[in-house]
Amino acid sequence: MSAMTRVPFLDLRAPYEELRDEIDLAIRRVLESGWYLLGEEISAFEDEYARYVGADHCVGVGNGLEALRLSLEALDVGPGAEVIVPSNTYIATWLAVTQVGATVVPVEPDAETFNVDPARIEDAITPRTRVILPVHLYGQPADVDAIHDIARRRSLRVIEDAAQAHGARVRGRPIGARDIVAWSFYPGKNLGALGDAGAVTTDDAVVADRIRVLRNYGSRVKYQNEVRGYNSRLDEIQAAVLRAKLPCLDEWNARRAAQAQRYACELSATELSLPVVPAWADAVWHLYVVRSRSRDALRAHLLDNGIDTLIHYPLPPHRQPAYADLRFDPDAFPIASTIANDVLSLPIGPHMTQEQQAAVIDAVKTFVQQ
Ligand SMILES: *Cc1c(COP(=O)(O)O)cnc(C)c1O
Repeated sequence: MSAMTRVPFLDLRAPYEELRDEIDLAIRRVLESGWYLLGEEISAFEDEYARYVGADHCVGVGNGLEALRLSLEALDVGPGAEVIVPSNTYIATWLAVTQVGATVVPVEPDAETFNVDPARIEDAITPRTRVILPVHLYGQPADVDAIHDIARRRSLRVIEDAAQAHGARVRGRPIGARDIVAWSFYPGKNLGALGDAGAVTTDDAVVADRIRVLRNYGSRVKYQNEVRGYNSRLDEIQAAVLRAKLPCLDEWNARRAAQAQRYACELSATELSLPVVPAWADAVWHLYVVRSRSRDALRAHLLDNGIDTLIHYPLPPHRQPAYADLRFDPDAFPIASTIANDVLSLPIGPHMTQEQQAAVIDAVKTFVQQ
């Protein structure tokens, strides 16, 4: 028998290895500049990323959660306001809303695409609703065209959580080219820094300006504080690293897409439910999430074969102890709860080898045959 191929869920050193010269140079440029916050690198990255997504403005901030929170604050969303959020998402989406004192109104996803179902949004709108906050979960775009139609008709704003969707498109138009979009550059995202980083892209000059002020102590001119702001800056080293990586994003997303296609071909005859991508969507495969009624046994079998997997996410936000005080019925969002019980994320990423993917496919097939 051949030696077992180890497959890590994600290898964060590999993108550095591929771009070692560019990243080393970028970091050295900042070290030698003697300027470490709000300088030339962040301005240049903001211009380059705005151009990449087709938005007029990009404002770099400390992380993805802050990108969401400052976006809400820039719209004066606070106590008394309701924000429509997916019942199936990473908790950061909810935390941003509750941090500004607003109320989360969860809406169930479409069980096939995992994303918030536009048809259910309309029922959740009340006179207090201010914002619809869709998430492009796992790199699968939500139908933001349909969501923006609803928002226009009902005079609401849309803030998109695109932390998992760098480079994704809806009907050919990039995510980021509509209203207000929050990004995370956490190291494991499709475009990742070497630490925490985030940004907001928007065509709304007022929102961009307010976030620029909020991220830096509410100050435009040093020691003049027009509003009570925060410290939420994207630092120069992270901006320089992101500039070095941005030219590779499309190529890295293309490698993910090829792997997704291979999984789809090889695993279509198994009992697993595979991700469904609507015809209008270009997904960027942040995660490759399958569903199985024997998820835990499958996960254990893969681990026995040297393959790491993760669960995104084991418990939906409404069942987390952090939100016990909101007293949601645990069974209030059955689609989100079912998803949490049967999803499994298989390894995927621009630096997984063909041999490693073959090992994952073989191990899934031997499990299914048992
Ligand atoms: C990663 C992530 C965030 C938060 O980003 P951070 O940079 O870790 O603060 C928000 N929403 C979603 C869907 C995410 O995946």
